[in-house]
Amino acid sequence: MSSGSQSPLPAEVSSVSTTSTPKTERDLVDSDGTLSCEEERLWLELSRKKRRTLEMFEGKEKCSSNFCHEVGQPSSDEEKLEQMTSACKTILKCIGEDPNREGLIKTPERWAKALLFMTSGYSLSAEKVLNNAVFTEDSHKEIVVVKNINIHSMCEHHMLPFTGRIHVGYIPNGKIIGLSKIARIAEVYARRLQVQERLTRQIVDAIVEALQPLGVGVVIESSHFCMVMRGVQQVGAKTVTSCVRGCFESNQKTRAEFFNIINGRRD
Ligand SMILES: [Zn+2]
Repeated sequence: MSSGSQSPLPAEVSSVSTTSTPKTERDLVDSDGTLSCEEERLWLELSRKKRRTLEMFEGKEKCSSNFCHEVGQPSSDEEKLEQMTSACKTILKCIGEDPNREGLIKTPERWAKALLFMTSGYSLSAEKVLNNAVFTEDSHKEIVVVKNINIHSMCEHHMLPFTGRIHVGYIPNGKIIGLSKIARIAEVYARRLQVQERLTRQIVDAIVEALQPLGVGVVIESSHFCMVMRGVQQVGAKTVTSCVRGCFESNQKTRAEFFNIINGRRD
C-alpha cells in the first residue's frame, strides 16, 4: 500500500534570489530619476529587506548568527522560500561550493521546495485528513490490520531521511475508519522532523482519539540514513519500534495475534 502520491511541485518558479541585488537604493535610480520594470522589482525587494531589518532592531526577532542572512518569521510561503533559499546558499558556500555555478544555480530553491514538501505535515492534522471518514460499525469486533504502509520521514537529530514501513492493527469498538485514512494519518506525522519512537506513539494516539477502539497497535520498521551514510554506516540495519494500547497491551493473546499477522504473512 502506498502512503500517498506526491503532488508535483511547479518545475520552475521565478525567484528574486537568483538575481544579483544592488548594494543601495541609489544604484537603482537612473540619471533621469526613472525606474525600469526590473529596477522597480529590485526596488521593492530592497524595501522588503529593509523592513525586515527594522523588525529585527525593533526586537521582533533576534538573530545572533554571523551567517544568518535573513531575519524575522516568514509571513508567507514566498518569504519562507526566499529565506530558505538564502540559507541554502550559505550552506553551499560553507561546504566549499560555488552557489553561482551552473549546476547549482537553481539548487537552493529546489532544496527549499523539497524540504517544505517533506515537512508538510506541520500544516496538517489527523482531524483534517479524517474528514468525516469515521463510520459506525457494531458487528466487527475482530482485529483489523493494515500493513506495509510506506513512510518517509526525517530524523530530527540530523535532518536526514528515514524510510520504512508501518503496520497498524486495531479492534473496533463500534467505529471504523476508511483503510486509506490510516496511511493518511501516518503521513501527517511522518512529514515532520521526527524520532521514530514519537512517530509511532503519535499514530497510536491519533487512532485512539478518532475511534476509541478496544485496542490498537502500531509497528514501524525503518532504515535511518544517519546510520547508513554516516556514523556507524550500517547498511541494512533496521530500527523497529512498537506501541500498543488497550487490549493489545493488556491481553497477551491479542497482542500475539497482531504480531503474528504482521510477521507470519509478510510478502
Ligand atoms: Zn539521525
